[in-house]
Amino acid sequence: MLRVAIVGSGPAGIYAAEALTRNGTRNGDAVVDVLDRLPCPFGLVRYGVAPDHPKIRSISAALTNVLEHPNVRFLGNVDVGTDVSLAELDTFYDAVIVAFGAAIDRRLGVPGEDLPGSYSATEFVAWYNGHPDVAPDAFTADVRSVAVVGVGNVAVDVVRVLAKTADDLRVTDMPDHVLETLDRSFVTDLHMVGRRGPAQAKFTTTELRELGELANADVIVDPAELELDAATEQLLATQAMARRNLEVLHGWASREPTGKPRRLHVHFWRRPVEVLGDERVTGLLVEGTRLDESGNAVGDGNMSTIEAQMVLRSVGYRGVAMAGLPFDERSGTVPNAAGRVLLDGKPVSGRYVAGWIKRGPTGVIGTNKKDARETVTSLLEDAPLLPRAAIQDGDGLVRLLAERGIRTVSWEGWRAIEAAEAMLGAERGRTRARITGRDALLRAALGSP
Ligand code: NAP
Repeated sequence: MLRVAIVGSGPAGIYAAEALTRNGTRNGDAVVDVLDRLPCPFGLVRYGVAPDHPKIRSISAALTNVLEHPNVRFLGNVDVGTDVSLAELDTFYDAVIVAFGAAIDRRLGVPGEDLPGSYSATEFVAWYNGHPDVAPDAFTADVRSVAVVGVGNVAVDVVRVLAKTADDLRVTDMPDHVLETLDRSFVTDLHMVGRRGPAQAKFTTTELRELGELANADVIVDPAELELDAATEQLLATQAMARRNLEVLHGWASREPTGKPRRLHVHFWRRPVEVLGDERVTGLLVEGTRLDESGNAVGDGNMSTIEAQMVLRSVGYRGVAMAGLPFDERSGTVPNAAGRVLLDGKPVSGRYVAGWIKRGPTGVIGTNKKDARETVTSLLEDAPLLPRAAIQDGDGLVRLLAERGIRTVSWEGWRAIEAAEAMLGAERGRTRARITGRDALLRAALGSP
């Protein structure tokens, strides 16, 4: 039996577990423990995908099937690096796959970005999804105008959530405190700001189109910002998504606002120069841009200010280093070759990576399937030569954690959280409502304080 620990129970980690236990692989009889620092599985499927996107969230049903495989075990509430070190995992496992994603946000690197009222979109997303690490009162919506920097799918998610009303969102499992905050929102203007042009935007068409269907917000686009130079026009011939995005944007640019209570302004060709304000954010100073020969945005010296009392920086996630793992600060990833962790260019025995910590924060959920399979293929190729774990006892890690006072959450514990959330929802007249604090999650999972 090959014993493998996977650190992180998001899509990449679970797809790796699936690839390891799939019938027909050489090591179809591998046993796998999937560890997560949170009491709940599914990573960004639970804490990243917007609650009003139930179809994307429903991928958790397929991920559940993997975690219910007889050779796979979920161990929640285990923080590898704090509760147990990576090196200690080697005592119990023949190989470790690190798949803990990209936990923090990229920085803008402009003055004022840490002013009160300036937040990372990743934190805002975690908040509206009830992530246990984000305080319920971390955000308020008592602002008139919000500037969101970046034109990727996360930016689209946050402007959409802010453009909706609490009533629109009550059908989701959004936590009560988020609905209460959004209910008191007096936002009228949302600005989504791209530093390059519409053809370079990262959002996907399905997500973009949804913004035009908001009951509560008119989308406003300046047609002049959609004009393309000859080189970009030529490139578009091979870029179907950018072409479709432009069609959607042109449709909006030709539309008159209908007087809905909120306005969603989509801007291009503006790079953030400074988050303005003394004690709190009062605006975003931007500079006009054009593309240089390499396709990067360069400033043209034309400054303007977008009035905003809240700035959300939605410029991508970033991976963090883990003790005992090599790390490339520049890319925020672990150096690897097809998932084999590399130190000074050479593979580190028994260490693998999958998902965003392997390739960076790009792609959709499904991208992780191929990515994880590549890693598992490498691991299975190496398996005959891997030194075997010193302790081949399936319960060794759980015992060690218990000795350290760590209360691990099993799959049954997670099922108990799900049942408690369904009950909470029923009490509120909703299908399901989220339990948010870590203590409350542990109480639901383990049944005692
Ligand atoms: P992203 O797709 O990489 O978009 C980041 C945006 O930030 C880009 O517009 C980028 O512009 C801009 N940016 C980066 N640095 C900047 C700076 N210093 N100043 C101004 N703008 C800057 O990242 P994301 O939106 O966080 O999404 C992460 C991944 O999750 C993506 O693969 C995304 O598709 C996926 N996701 C998918 C869904 C969905 O399918 N519904 C939902 C959410 C997230 P440049 O292009 O100029 O660098």
